[in-house]
Amino acid sequence: MVKESKLYDALGVPPTATDSEIKKAYRKLALKYHPDKNPNEGEKFKEISHAYEILSDSEKRELYDRVGEEGLSGSGMEGGMTAEDLFSHFFGGGPFGGGGRRGHNAGPRRGKDTVYVLKVSLEELYKGKVTKLAFNKTVLCDKCEGKGGKDVKTCKMCSGQGIRVTLRQLGPMVQQIQQTCPECNGQGQIIPEESRCKGCHGQKTSNERKVFEVHVDKGMKDGQKIVFGGEADQAPDTVPGDVVIVIEEKPHPYLKRKGDDLYFDAKIDLLTALAGGKFHIKHLDDRVLVVNILPGEVIKPGETKIIQNEGMPSYRHHNKGNLYVNFTIDFPASNWAEPETIAKLEGILPPRPDLPQVNARDTEEVVLSRVDASQQSRAQRGEHDDSDDEMHGGHPGGPGVQCAQQ
Ligand SMILES: [Zn+2]
Ligand SMILES: [Zn+2]
Repeated sequence: MVKESKLYDALGVPPTATDSEIKKAYRKLALKYHPDKNPNEGEKFKEISHAYEILSDSEKRELYDRVGEEGLSGSGMEGGMTAEDLFSHFFGGGPFGGGGRRGHNAGPRRGKDTVYVLKVSLEELYKGKVTKLAFNKTVLCDKCEGKGGKDVKTCKMCSGQGIRVTLRQLGPMVQQIQQTCPECNGQGQIIPEESRCKGCHGQKTSNERKVFEVHVDKGMKDGQKIVFGGEADQAPDTVPGDVVIVIEEKPHPYLKRKGDDLYFDAKIDLLTALAGGKFHIKHLDDRVLVVNILPGEVIKPGETKIIQNEGMPSYRHHNKGNLYVNFTIDFPASNWAEPETIAKLEGILPPRPDLPQVNARDTEEVVLSRVDASQQSRAQRGEHDDSDDEMHGGHPGGPGVQCAQQ
């Protein structure tokens, strides 16, 4: 049993009506009695809107059923949403969709986030740093607390919405047209000249320079966000958005990063590749890693080796990634030594493998010549990565090289 049924009567539904029956009834009546269509029925429109506002909210409906309208008025639940508000809400657009400005019952809207891209070097991401960023932000005027003046009046023309919604019926469709209210210029309020706040001249806000201390932590990654909650621009009736700092990693001249690992391209000479030696990698914290290739450890062209724990620090962990070293071997130029010196290699390097046995009638001696640029591009057909090998005289151990040397 409900205490009273006045609101149900307004929508023409029984107190047992379901949510969807209530919604349907409101939809039908709201279109019928909207003041733009039916200017003499303003009161009726308010009545059905009020009824729908209560009955479409399960909490309010339950309270109304139990104690009637009297109970609602003391509960602080009533009021706020105007009939127009509700109508726009129901039919889409309006104060709760995009573009609206004031919707008390739905709670204050949330302001936009301020997004700032912070370019950071790999060195800074390795070591971590604290940087200060200054922003100009809009804050509520402190003299009037964002009210704009002492005597702020709600605009009568738009009921404080700042927009006017007009309806046009096109057969079964209702087209909704929104315009900025000309009376208040979309402000929803009118502040008489004499009562305007001296601090902000009725603008409600002022500009402030704010400095943020941004902690770029060790191991942060490209695209990672540092958020200062609620620090974006302030506006009346608005929960300020966040200031979001997005890390953008600057490319490094010789180190590449993948996750917590670093990649370095090392070019070493043939002697070092075969007989060992040292080379340097200047690290991101200015240490110089002296990398040892031990005698007897043969480094092949294109080979990748790893230096443990010399990658990036892991964000909020104490471990580090690895440093990968990709090798290119700088071979000596042709005719780098006297034939007798070269001949000595035969006594040093592993012997040539034997050629497979072939029928003597099928063999013919040929020599290799240089490949010119146009021939080279034709020969490669997109295998651009092989260009280095080609320039240095063919693939080591390939059959062509063997033939030429005999
Ligand atoms: Zn207005
Ligand atoms: Zn002010």
